[in-house]
Amino acid sequence: MIRLIVIIIIVYFAYRGFRSWARQQFGPDRTVSGEPKAEIDDEMVQDPCCRAYVPKKSAVRSRLGGEDLYFCSETCRDRYLESTARK
Ligand SMILES: [Zn+2]
Repeated sequence: MIRLIVIIIIVYFAYRGFRSWARQQFGPDRTVSGEPKAEIDDEMVQDPCCRAYVPKKSAVRSRLGGEDLYFCSETCRDRYLESTARK
């Protein structure tokens, strides 16, 4: 009986150790509902005007030639669209 309890404790700690190892390897724990949302929040996009990286969520989006472009601000967007229109 005591052997069984010892085995359970060992398995429990092995499981905990594996989980913390897996978290280091594959990033933080993901819940089923939180997974897609967290990835969208973390996505960074480059502003083609000033080359700054901005989170996709707060970036100013503009469609140009069927392509989505993301800018850090409306000033950058206007400047970029102006420069491409001039060409
Ligand atoms: Zn910018």
